[in-house]
Parts: sequence; structure tokens; C-alpha cells
Amino acid sequence: MKQKINFYSGPSILPKQVIEQAQASIENFENTGLSILEISHRSKEFVAVMEGARALAKELMGLGDNYEVLYMQGGASSQFYMIPYNFLLAGQTGVYIDTGTWANGALEQAKLFGNVHIAASSKNENYNHIPKQLDIPGEAAYLHLTTNNTIFGTQYHFTENPKKHFGIDYPLFADMSSDILSRKMDFSAFDLIYAGAQKNIGTSGATLIAFRKELLQKQRKPLPAMLDYAVQAANQSMKNTPASFSVYVSYLTLQWIKEQRLEKIEAQNNRKAQTLYDAIDASSLFKGTVAKEDRSLMNVCFVIGDAALEKKFSELATENGIVGIEGHRSVGGFRASIYNAMPQSGVDTLVQLMEEFERISG
Ligand SMILES: *Cc1c(COP(=O)(O)O)cnc(C)c1O
Repeated sequence: MKQKINFYSGPSILPKQVIEQAQASIENFENTGLSILEISHRSKEFVAVMEGARALAKELMGLGDNYEVLYMQGGASSQFYMIPYNFLLAGQTGVYIDTGTWANGALEQAKLFGNVHIAASSKNENYNHIPKQLDIPGEAAYLHLTTNNTIFGTQYHFTENPKKHFGIDYPLFADMSSDILSRKMDFSAFDLIYAGAQKNIGTSGATLIAFRKELLQKQRKPLPAMLDYAVQAANQSMKNTPASFSVYVSYLTLQWIKEQRLEKIEAQNNRKAQTLYDAIDASSLFKGTVAKEDRSLMNVCFVIGDAALEKKFSELATENGIVGIEGHRSVGGFRASIYNAMPQSGVDTLVQLMEEFERISG
């Protein structure tokens, strides 16, 4: 069977090495004579996986012991309500920047718990840019943002400490589901970070959460045990049975990131995005959909603007083994998700097809 070139937005491409290691562990996990799928989460072998994954995520993000790193279930979407349930007390205000469908989903959930202040929104322009004019209150429980807008293909490119950028001295929270560990950054500039594993750091079922421990002093109490960050931390992410296989795949993916080195991954990600955006900018057929300065290095959105031609290009892509480049229905056209595991050669193949298509239909 010929390998496909996987541009799906999530679950998405994984390093070949990770899939092979996972496959071997489904047969026989670390010579236990058991499959990773059937081993107890209380076994010493699995406890080492959970502890190893949490420690490695912390190491790769360069976070100190003042941070707690956990794996939880329910996806990034469950953090949309867990965050305000824990940290947005009655009468307090959560500040949100509305940069896309996921950012909007997060703020809608927060409304169930407290006041929501929308500092800015690009919704009326179909989220084609990151808003720069912000109305940031001097006091709030936290500011929440989405670093990479997976559906619309925009991303924050901070040039200074983000808290300084926003002029806040209260906690800063970020949904990094689609760009976590895709570039070097000062992760400790954020007080809480969360990411579904299925884009850059594994497969679906596990969600990574990192937060500054002192945040726990500001929690609502009491909380249902499963939704209480303090309880999850006190139980080392094993208050109940974790998504053990997903945590394992995430651990393997983090090990791959460490081996590759984040600097090198970042350089490759920059080059892949540059290749694709250069092709879009040079084309008279394909057009980018977002403001250039906000372009995402992870999700590249582009259109032709003619439904018949778009259908033809889709067919050509499919014939050439390309999978998952249809744009989200709210943008249309195409979206190439080029996460860490996507090799330069995959992007080169897509660009060659775009050029060929322009020649034959231009
Ligand atoms: C995919 C995605 C989500 C939703 O993740 P689930 O794990 O499916 O809940 C949330 N935020 C962003 C930025 C995403 O890319």
C-alpha cells in the first residue's frame, strides 16, 4: 500500500517512528509479555509512562517545578469549561480574545460561570486576522487566547513577552492545541496552557495541561473531583483510569521531538510554511485567506474561489495520494495542516501539484 500524504487537521500525521513503536508495544510492551492496550494503569511500567510523559512535556516546554503538568481526558474542549469552573468565580471577569471558532467556543462556555469580557473579535471578517486593537481591562481573573487558530489559519507571532504585549499583570491562559511544541517560545510566560494531543503531540484521547501551581490558590471550591485541577494534580493524572494508550503515544511523540530538537523542528516548520505561502503568493490561481502578518505556520488556508476548479484540484490531489486538504466548511477552499511530523517533501509535492494545476487550467 502506498503511503498517503496526510494534511488532516487532527487527528493528524504522526512520525513514522512513533507509529512503529506504538505498533510494537501493542504486541509486547517493554517485554512485559502484555500489550500496552491491556496493561494496568497502576502497573509500574505504565506509571513510568505517565510520569515520563509529564516530565518530558515539562522539560520540552522549559517549565520549572513551579508548574504542574497533567494529562486529562475530554479534549481541549473540556478545558473550555474546566478553566472557568476552576478560576472564574462569581462576580469575576474572564477576558477573551475572539480569534476563531475554538476561541469563541471557549468564551461561550465561560459565560456559564462568570462575566466574560471580549477584548476584541475578528468574527465579522470571518476571523481572517488576529485583532490588534484590544480593550483590555486593568483587572480580571485571567486573559484567555488561542495561539493558533486551526480552522482559519491565523497564529500569534509574539515579538515580546505576551503579558507585556497585552499590558496585564493577571494570569494569561492559552489554548495551544494546534501549535504546542512547534516552535521555541517562553512557555513560562503563560500561567496555564492546554492542548489536545492529536495535532502536534500524539493522538486523540489525551489532553496536556500545564499550569503555575500558585494558581490553585484561586480555585473555586468545592468542585467535582474529576474537574478539579488540584485533585488531578494530587493524583498524578490518575484520579481515574487515564487514556493510557493515548498518553503512551504522546510520550513517544515527545521523545521524537526531543530527539529531533525543537530548534530543528521550528526551522523545518518555518521552511515548510514558507514554501507553501511563497507558492500561494506567486500563483494567480490560488489565494491566501488571511492577513499576511498573522499567517499560521501550522494550518495554511487558501482558495481558488471557483467551486468547479476547486473540485478539480481536490481530485488531482486525491489521485496523487494527498489526503485532508479540504478547507473547513466555514472557510471553504483548502487547508494544508503541516504539523511537526509533516516532512518538507510532503509540502513540495503539494506545491508541485498546485503549479501543475495552474499550468493546465490557467
Ligand atoms: C482541535 C482544537 C480544539 C478542540 O480539541 P478537542 O480535543 O477536539 O476538544 C480546541 N482548540 C483548538 C485550537 C483546536 O485546534
